[in-house]
Amino acid sequence: MQIVLFGPPGAGKGTQAKFLSEEFNIPHISTGDILRENVKKGTALGMKAKSYMDKGELVPDQLLNDLVRSRLEEPDTKKGFLLDGYPRTIPQAKALDEIMDELNRKLDAVVNIDVGTNALVKRLSGRRVCRGCGAPYHIVMNPPKVADVCDACGGELYQRADDREEAIKNRLAVYTKQTQPVLDFYKKKGVLIDIDGDREIEEVKADVINALEEIA
Ligand code: ADP
Ligand code: AMP
Repeated sequence: MQIVLFGPPGAGKGTQAKFLSEEFNIPHISTGDILRENVKKGTALGMKAKSYMDKGELVPDQLLNDLVRSRLEEPDTKKGFLLDGYPRTIPQAKALDEIMDELNRKLDAVVNIDVGTNALVKRLSGRRVCRGCGAPYHIVMNPPKVADVCDACGGELYQRADDREEAIKNRLAVYTKQTQPVLDFYKKKGVLIDIDGDREIEEVKADVINALEEIA
């Protein structure tokens, strides 16, 4: 299954991706996670991306298109994949079409997790992420068993620099202006599945899995 997980920052893409990747046995490819890893390692890509990420701006399309192209060429994606956080602009959506054509593949679905702005702000401002495996938690709505420690790998939890107030506002504005138009692009192609993400994590999970089983 070849899926794009779509939605504003804080919608729950990373949270749901973890379940879906296990359920369907396909790799979770988060462009945000890959970029953060590059920033941490100080690679050329990481150095170019950091200032955009800290401000909550989008990293230039070309860098993302190259990153996704080389990731989708890796053999573990042959059984399918879950793309999380890409495409985020119309030029990226068009580039993904080209990449898929070149690789002789086809997107099965774009799953749009829909959540209102107030809930997004609450989710992002309380988010904590594992330094080791990237798993997302929430200090109130999805806390780890032991404070500041990842349930999955024992890693330390931290607050992302872009989950602070100013950057959150900017990211939500960037989403509305640059990313939301991509929904129409996929609606016209007939691959868009809308999911109400303003519910408990387990309810959203059941809905997404049901929707994907129907098209599998
Ligand atoms: P995204 O990957 O879309 O940016 P995350 O999966 O990191 O979003 O989730 C953002 C925050 O919201 C995290 O703190 C996560 O624990 C929390 N969260 C995710 N889904 C839900 C939900 N259905 N209800 C409440 N909180 C949620
Ligand atoms: P995320 O983890 O998906 O919230 O992404 C964190 C940050 O990484 C974003 O605010 C952007 O700066 C950058 N980023 C991730 N994916 C993309 C993308 N597809 N296009 C441009 N920038 C991206």
